[in-house]
Amino acid sequence: MDLLDERIVPDHAREIKTEAREFAREHIEPNAQEYFQAGEYPEEILEAGRDAGLVAQDIPEKWGGRGLDLAQLLALTEEFYRADAGIALTLQLASFGCEITYEHGTDEQCEEYIRPVADGEQRSGLAVSEPETGSDLAGMQTRAERDGDEYVINGEKYWVGNGVEADWITVYARTGDDEDNPYGNHSLFIVPTDTDGYDAEHIPEKMAMRASKQAHIEFDDCRVPADNLIGAEGAGFMLLADFFNHGRIAVAGHGLGLAAAAIEEAWEFTHDREEFGRTISDFQSVQHGLADMLLEFESARTLTWRACENVANRDDAGYWAAMAKTKATETAVDVAEQAMQFHGGRSILDERRIARVYRDARVPVIYEGANEIQRNLIYRQAP
Ligand SMILES: Cc1cc2nc3c(=O)[nH]c(=O)nc-3n(C[C@H](O)[C@H](O)[C@H](O)COP(=O)(O)OP(=O)(O)OC[C@H]3O[C@@H](n4cnc5c(N)ncnc54)[C@H](O)[C@@H]3O)c2cc1C
Repeated sequence: MDLLDERIVPDHAREIKTEAREFAREHIEPNAQEYFQAGEYPEEILEAGRDAGLVAQDIPEKWGGRGLDLAQLLALTEEFYRADAGIALTLQLASFGCEITYEHGTDEQCEEYIRPVADGEQRSGLAVSEPETGSDLAGMQTRAERDGDEYVINGEKYWVGNGVEADWITVYARTGDDEDNPYGNHSLFIVPTDTDGYDAEHIPEKMAMRASKQAHIEFDDCRVPADNLIGAEGAGFMLLADFFNHGRIAVAGHGLGLAAAAIEEAWEFTHDREEFGRTISDFQSVQHGLADMLLEFESARTLTWRACENVANRDDAGYWAAMAKTKATETAVDVAEQAMQFHGGRSILDERRIARVYRDARVPVIYEGANEIQRNLIYRQAP
């Protein structure tokens, strides 16, 4: 069963899809369960991904990457997340946030910070969420105060992928308090993680995506040069909103990969397991359940690829990105739930791929904006 068939993928993205599939079969799939159970950061697989030219390669050629576009990124993402979401998240987070700098930063910033990530010598991260604020982007409290030719950052961030492992991160911080313009109060900064006043530790162990690592960061008079501001002061909210439109297409790909994995497992199990003298796939209610999974999956995938094209063309991008993210990630949750039921008692065995997929599927409905926030965007931006 090949649910991630290439016919829906535009021609120019098929080669990278094949590369991603071969890499996932060789490096991600066989190691997925081990890393999940150990909760370890897959350093060797990240290195292999860099060698294969499949990590951080959305970075433009000018700065050392392959300049993969959104469709190529989505094609790669589906394949990686089908193989394992935790390892895939680590591979993708190695360059998280770079797009903001290479789209809106200066040449000097790109030379110093983006090129080493494209070359596989450094990794990045993006720090937006805080312990007391998650969904309310305009309400984030971490503050950056201008002091001469520096900014001084104070506050806390939570959930930051690679907050411990990264060489530098993009930090979203408050630089204004204008109540009449709540979307102009934040700015984005490049912060090297070895700066004095930057302190990060891993958050507690997770039940899902255990091969990826997130951090709690504390900024205590953390000083960065004013040159590390990305774009204009006060532009942070808008730059982030633009970035999330692309990110949400990728997260829709997380959902599709996870959903494909759940359906594969359900299909194989129901056609193998015998009860009442027949395979359980002989029961019509099981067949209908499998049919419903396929219906949901194909609907989500068709919507996602349509959304990908619209977002790439900046055609009602916020609306389509939110639609794809919501539908694909909820499809993953729904089909994983049904697949668990079809596995009976074996569904909860730690060694089973479906148990891993079921837990991992809980995550993309939350990150890159919880789906309630996506529904707000869909409603407000309806054409
Ligand atoms: C594995 C993982 C990796 C992550 N990586 C990063 C990262 O690299 N960088 C980063 O900055 N963040 C990251 N995050 C954080 C993620 O973006 C937040 O968890 C997410 O934005 C939700 O914020 P919250 O968890 O604080 O939930 P809250 O904002 O507290 O919301 C909790 C719940 O309240 C409800 N809710 C909230 N607001 C509304 C509303 N307006 N309308 C209706 N219901 C609402 C929803 O049900 C929501 O799920 C990561 C999270 C996870 C789980």
